[in-house]
Amino acid sequence: MSVGVEDLERAVKNADHKYDIELIKKAYTFAKESHNGQLRLSGEPYFTHPINVALILIDLGMDTDSIVAGLLHDVVEDTEVSKEDIVSTFGEDVGLLVDGVTKLGQVPLYSREEQQAENIRKMLLAMSKDIRVIIIKLADRLHNMRTAESWPEQKIRDKSLETMEIYAPLAHRLGIRAVKEELEDIALRYLDPIAYNEITQVVKKRELNDANYIEYIKEKIYFRIKELGLNFKIDGRIKSHYGIYRKVYMNGKDWEEVFDIYAIRIIVDSIIECYNILGAMHDLFTPIPNRFKDYISMPKPNMYQSLHTTVIGSEGIPFEIQIRTWDMHYTAEYGIAAHWKYKEGVKGKDSLEERLAWIRRIIEAQQESESAEDLMQSIKTDIGSEEVFVFTPNGDVKTLPLGSTVIDFAYAIHSEVGNRMIGAKIDGRIAPIETKIETGQVIEIIRTKSENHGPSRHWIKAVKTSEARNKIRSWFKKEKRDENIQEGLAEIEREFSRNNIKLSEDEMKEFIEKIVKRHHFNSVDDFYAAIGYGGITLSKIMPGIKDDYSKLFKNNTTLQKEPKNEKKIVPSCGIVVEGIDQCLVKFAKCCNPLPGDSIIGFITRGRGVSVHKSSCNNVIIAKNDTENLDRLIAVRWENSSTKNYRSSIDIITNNRPGIIADITVALSVLKVPIHEFNARILKNGNGIITTSIEIASVEQLQNTMHKLTKIEGIISVDRSGMSKKI
Ligand code: MN
Repeated sequence: MSVGVEDLERAVKNADHKYDIELIKKAYTFAKESHNGQLRLSGEPYFTHPINVALILIDLGMDTDSIVAGLLHDVVEDTEVSKEDIVSTFGEDVGLLVDGVTKLGQVPLYSREEQQAENIRKMLLAMSKDIRVIIIKLADRLHNMRTAESWPEQKIRDKSLETMEIYAPLAHRLGIRAVKEELEDIALRYLDPIAYNEITQVVKKRELNDANYIEYIKEKIYFRIKELGLNFKIDGRIKSHYGIYRKVYMNGKDWEEVFDIYAIRIIVDSIIECYNILGAMHDLFTPIPNRFKDYISMPKPNMYQSLHTTVIGSEGIPFEIQIRTWDMHYTAEYGIAAHWKYKEGVKGKDSLEERLAWIRRIIEAQQESESAEDLMQSIKTDIGSEEVFVFTPNGDVKTLPLGSTVIDFAYAIHSEVGNRMIGAKIDGRIAPIETKIETGQVIEIIRTKSENHGPSRHWIKAVKTSEARNKIRSWFKKEKRDENIQEGLAEIEREFSRNNIKLSEDEMKEFIEKIVKRHHFNSVDDFYAAIGYGGITLSKIMPGIKDDYSKLFKNNTTLQKEPKNEKKIVPSCGIVVEGIDQCLVKFAKCCNPLPGDSIIGFITRGRGVSVHKSSCNNVIIAKNDTENLDRLIAVRWENSSTKNYRSSIDIITNNRPGIIADITVALSVLKVPIHEFNARILKNGNGIITTSIEIASVEQLQNTMHKLTKIEGIISVDRSGMSKKI
């Protein structure tokens, strides 16, 4: 479908917003000329993309600068035009927006762990500077996903995962419902086409069967509210595919249990009318117990407000009713974008500042943390309604993820409250601080006045939120260096003996020093201390340590416990070293290059060529070091990547909500492509997931399975057909 300037003009004319159409047309012409001759993968002229992005932004009600930046967003990246050109033609504001979007485009959000954390941090920082950058980026991603069909398979999968894990949650957190739902539905269609089709079928069938019924219900509601003499609007809709997917496939509900395929929405003028209508609806239909939710008095963290109730009509078909005011409606539909769409902003709970505060909190919480998982968790915990609402004794509401403990609550109030906590009361009764909190509880933290009091180490394992975990760690990091060193040393000793690493005192000293260097610590004590306060997780670096151990001390066979029957796979590593036929090649642990990365070899002393990413810090250091410069050697990936094969594994889980997301994230972090993913519920209430993954070697498969078993809620992981009888 081709789009042009007329579409922009029409959209601008139909918008409730005043736009500077001349400036928009100027940007149109500028971008069109700059992209002249470029094509998209689909074969369409490239310029159709920025126009569509601009149209989405107009739809969201964004301001003129955002529309202009939307038209220009790929110009700096893909054409000869520079940021300065944009600034001189369209002004500083547009220049900054385009620059922000360009920079965001250059950070792959779904890369290897460490880098991913850094990249997401960069994105959050860009957002906190000007939130419009991320809204333009969301529009960009939305149009790209709409037209993803022509991409190569791998790219579709990567982008879909990234969309599901990062962009959709961001859209959700910013409250932009339409964008969030469309992103999720498109990504789902690519990630789980089988489930997606099943949902489509069921929805279609129900729509056909129940069309008259829904009309009938709407009419019934209409006349009832009319009697009350109120101004109102009523509409009905079918919930998003992904919303249904979460219920059926992730939470294991039966299709019959999925009540809220339909939602009837009633919009009125005032809050008091919302409650009036709720009463009328409960009178008109039979409410289903425990399905009523009051998000008006307790808004969701993304500021969503509405009353939700599920009722059954005369035909016995349940449906959800959502009741809200117009202000709440704008916030629910447009979220942060409502700030631009409705000049005055939206009254009540919504303010740009409050939304930005969330981003700043994540950035702050993350400054102490070194782990990408924590960061992903911070973003992911915001998805959905998996949260509890509890109160301070003063009646302030705190929202925390489901499964949070009193300790999380204390740290959510303030670090000092957490650090000085010696006990707690829940609803007036003394309770253990590890207690999981529940919605509606009033929680009082008992504190000591002593300034020296601090948290206990085991709290780190008891807490749910990364905010609490980071604050506890940072206390230990600051206050307890000696203790941390002791703790770290003890942990090393435990892990070493568990892994049968036995060395003489001298050897041990040498070995530890090697490890310390590899992980870039200044001293052995720093290294122990970091393990002690949890800055590095020993279990994560153990595989590397074990590797080194067997390499360095392999002659000492008596100390080694090589598992029998496990044939070592000869690493046919897929690397070609220029000018050398056969040579020992290994992948550098510092940057872990993966097929497709730009790489370079480094000739080690006596241990062959180690392959680094070209961008690896160690390479850059070597390049600046005349002594090492000539040890760099060109290497490239072997072309045939046919070595991978598919393997099917069965994962038994306790069916914890969100576990599927965690599994797919883990696989994606491990760079293991997923070909099939099926989940179902077993009679005993556990879940079984059978997934077909692409694997390069048995070692990789074992490693992958091992990593999966570490996910909370996973009971077992086996090759398909090998799992024990369940
Ligand atoms: Mn783009």
